[in-house]
Amino acid sequence: MRVLITGAAGFLGSHLCDRLLKEGHEVIGMDNFITGNAENLGHLSGHPSFSFIRHDVANFIFVPGKIDAVMHFASPASPNPASPFGYTNLPIQTMKAGALGTHNTLGVARAHNARYLLASTSEIYGDPLEHPQKESYWGHCDPIGVRSVYDEAKRFAEALTMAYHRAHGINTRIVRIFNTYGPRMRLDDGRVVPNFIQQALRNEPLTIYGDGAQTRSFCFVEDLVEGIYRLLMSDYHEPVNIGNPVETSILDFAKTIINVLGSQSEITFKMEKRLGDDPQRRRPDISRANQVLAWNPTIALADGIRRTAPYFKSKLGL
Ligand code: NAD
Ligand code: UDP
Repeated sequence: MRVLITGAAGFLGSHLCDRLLKEGHEVIGMDNFITGNAENLGHLSGHPSFSFIRHDVANFIFVPGKIDAVMHFASPASPNPASPFGYTNLPIQTMKAGALGTHNTLGVARAHNARYLLASTSEIYGDPLEHPQKESYWGHCDPIGVRSVYDEAKRFAEALTMAYHRAHGINTRIVRIFNTYGPRMRLDDGRVVPNFIQQALRNEPLTIYGDGAQTRSFCFVEDLVEGIYRLLMSDYHEPVNIGNPVETSILDFAKTIINVLGSQSEITFKMEKRLGDDPQRRRPDISRANQVLAWNPTIALADGIRRTAPYFKSKLGL
C-alpha cells in the first residue's frame, strides 16, 4: 500500500512509519513540526519507500499519486500546561488538527477511495465514571474545561469519521489509544513518562501532581503499534481500545521507575493537582481488541522502562 501518515515526525507517527516500511509499504509522512521533531525521521532519510511533506493538516491536503491508506495522527498530545508543547498552550491548533485535520484527511481518503484510520484517545472518556473503560462507554467530559480542546476535538473527529463511513461508505477505523510510552517521546512535553525518566536518570526528585493516587495504564509503543497495524489491516469500523490494562497509581509508577533505573531520586508531591480535570482513573477494557484483532500487549512495565531509558540517556548526554 501507499500510506499517508500525518503526525509522522511525532512519537507514535515515527514508529508507525518504521513499522509500515518494515511491512513493505510505501510511506508518505506529513507534519508541521508543531510538537514533533525531524530527528525522529532522520534515520529514514534516503529510504527509497519514504517521502515527507511539510504541511499543516488544518489546510487542504494534496498528495500526488494514488493513496491506499490514510492514518491521521497529527495532533498535540500532552495535557501538561507547564510545557509550551502541551495542548492547553496550543488550544486552537489542537482543535484545528482534530477537527479540520480530520476533515481534510477524510477528504483524501474519499478522493482516493483509501482505507482510513483515526488516532483517537482514551481522553474521549474524560474523567471516567466506569472502570475499566469499554468502547461502549460514552464518557464523562467537560465540554468547556481546559482539556476540552483535545477531548472534544477527538470526539468530533470520531463523529466525523463515522459520518464519512455511514454517508460515503469510507472504509474507516478508529483506535482509542491509552497512555503509551517509549523512545522518541518528546523530552519537554511534560508528560509523566519523560518527566519521571529524566528526573530519575538525573537523581532529581520525581514530581507527583496531587497525591499520586490517580491511576494510568501504560503501554509500550511496540505493543501499541502492533495493535494499530492489526486494526489497519482489519475491516472493523467501530472504535477499538488499544492500551495495556495493567493499572498503576502514579505513586507506584514513580517508585517503579526509581527501582528499575536504580536511581537515588526522592519523590516530591506538588499538592496542587495539575490544572483542570486530571482524570482520576484510567484503564482500558481490551476485550474487543482481543476478540477482533487477537491482540494483547506483551511487554511489562519494567521491561518497557528498561527499553526506553537508553533513548533518554543519549538525548541527555548521560
Ligand atoms: P506527538 O506530539 O509526539 O506527535 C504528534 C505529531 O503531530 C507531531 O509531530 C506534531 O508536529 C504533528 N502535528 C500536530 N499538529 C499538526 C498539524 N496541524 N499539521 C501537521 N502535523 C501536526 O504526539 P504522539 O504521542 O505521537 O501522539 C500522536 C497521536 O496519537 C495524536 O493524535 C494523539 O492524540 C494520539 N494519542 C497519543 C497517545 C500517547 O500516549 N502517546 C495517547 C492517546 C492518543
Ligand atoms: N503527572 C505527575 N507528574 C508529572 C507529570 C504528570 O504526577 O511530572 C501525572 C498527571 O497529573 C497525571 C498523570 O501523571 O495524573 C499522567 O499525566 P500525563 O501528562 O502523562 O498524561 P494524561 O494521562 O493525564 O493524559
